[in-house]
Amino acid sequence: MVGVGGSSPLATTRIKLNGSDLFRPVFISKNKVHTHVNVIPRIISRSEHSISRSNIDKGVLDILYTLSRSGYEAYLVGGGLRDMLLGLEPKDFDVVTNATPEQIKTVFRSRCRIIGRRFRLAHIHVGDKVIEVATFRAQSDERGDRLIDAQGMVRRDNIYGTRDEDVWRRDFTINALYYNIDDFSLVDYVGAIDDLNAGQIRLIGDPSLRYREDPVRMIRAIRFACKLGLELPKETATPLPLLAHLLAETAPARLYEEVLKLFHGGQAACVFEKLRQHGLLAGLFEQTEYCLQQASSWSAAVLPKALSQTDARIANGKGVNPAFLFALMMWEPLWTALDCDEQTLVHIDDLLKAAATVLNEQSERTSLPRPVIQQVKEIWATQLPLIHKKEKAERILALPRFRAGYDFLALRAIAAPNLQADVDFWTQVQIEHPEWLQVAVSYPESGESSRHDFDDTQQRDGHHKRRRRYRHR
Ligand code: ATP
Ligand code: MG
Repeated sequence: MVGVGGSSPLATTRIKLNGSDLFRPVFISKNKVHTHVNVIPRIISRSEHSISRSNIDKGVLDILYTLSRSGYEAYLVGGGLRDMLLGLEPKDFDVVTNATPEQIKTVFRSRCRIIGRRFRLAHIHVGDKVIEVATFRAQSDERGDRLIDAQGMVRRDNIYGTRDEDVWRRDFTINALYYNIDDFSLVDYVGAIDDLNAGQIRLIGDPSLRYREDPVRMIRAIRFACKLGLELPKETATPLPLLAHLLAETAPARLYEEVLKLFHGGQAACVFEKLRQHGLLAGLFEQTEYCLQQASSWSAAVLPKALSQTDARIANGKGVNPAFLFALMMWEPLWTALDCDEQTLVHIDDLLKAAATVLNEQSERTSLPRPVIQQVKEIWATQLPLIHKKEKAERILALPRFRAGYDFLALRAIAAPNLQADVDFWTQVQIEHPEWLQVAVSYPESGESSRHDFDDTQQRDGHHKRRRRYRHR
């Protein structure tokens, strides 16, 4: 199944490297940190695989060569390599080296910034891109700057190590291949090639232990399963519902970023289904999961279809807006909090009060940036005039979130066919009066085409101007 450009580079590898079980590492659990013994990596030479430098970003190659010329080891590692081996377009490239962040800074000087506290990393600027360069890390808790809390969660991890040590702290086997810039070989300690060929996502080490160390690995497993079309074997999947509660202890700002990666990666419908299947959705959207478990849940009827539309939008190269995602996920919690059903929600004051409550609660899990909260409220608030103030169509089309509000209403009609007449009304108004829309700030988020594609700054500026203009009327 693994291949690049039609041929299967790893099929050869698989035949040549039969008997790979010999290389399977042995894990020993010790003081909540897994260690390994005497693992000799499998080296897959350039002629046995088809990772080609022509598929690697020029800036990344430049960094790899520069580190190597400066006397350091330098490897490509992680998702970019994995994606290329699966014949997918790599999203980004991760570089790893034995140079410390300070040594990397000395090599790249002003092009390099050291970032992070939990993990110190070097960011190197190449043109308008930033390439992340990490230093090999070790798993041992016997030295250096590593902090593990009572739940087994790694809070800080800045113990530098060697490649032989670095591999064991990576999450999944398929993410733990190294591409050596010195001889263009692949280095496989953990049976990554076999797992890629078998289409399986396996953790390195004891799955429960590795999930406890960093609960985000649970949702990464789901993301990779959907993105790469791979299976979660029993040992990867079984601990998920049992450890899902640990997500509540993960930093909310990190979980917000992870939610965007999960739902804006082009496989949101799959992610949603698998998060639910493995009991993980409640760890991210507790209120939504509560609603989903009620009889005839709005979310159960609408979210799968809405998320498929998000996927289609991404597949067509259109932008997506976090606020639209959160507006969808939190819509049923909103009117459930008001103890009404969605069509009896008619008072803006009630709506805004409940919005503050449910969004604040959500922020405790996935901290929502203030502008996102504001936009979610605007998308929701637009729902009322769309149904009850049709006589003010000209003004409503000029609302900052008209387009998102309209798309949102169209999704609501999935669960409530009586709303289709309202959707049709607004579709018709837009056709008959495109000039009213011209002044509205369209927003590339929600489902269907926007009239303009603004960058963020333009959206913000435009947004304020339009609001002022609307208020003056
Ligand atoms: P993608 O970039 O497609 O999201 P990726 O696997 O490259 O996937 P990154 O977050 O870019 O993910 O991380 C790069 C590499 O760092 C991973 O491939 C993995 O080896 C390691 N890694 C990332 N996050 C973790 C984690 N939470 N625990 C252990 N290793 C991790
Ligand atoms: Mg990556």
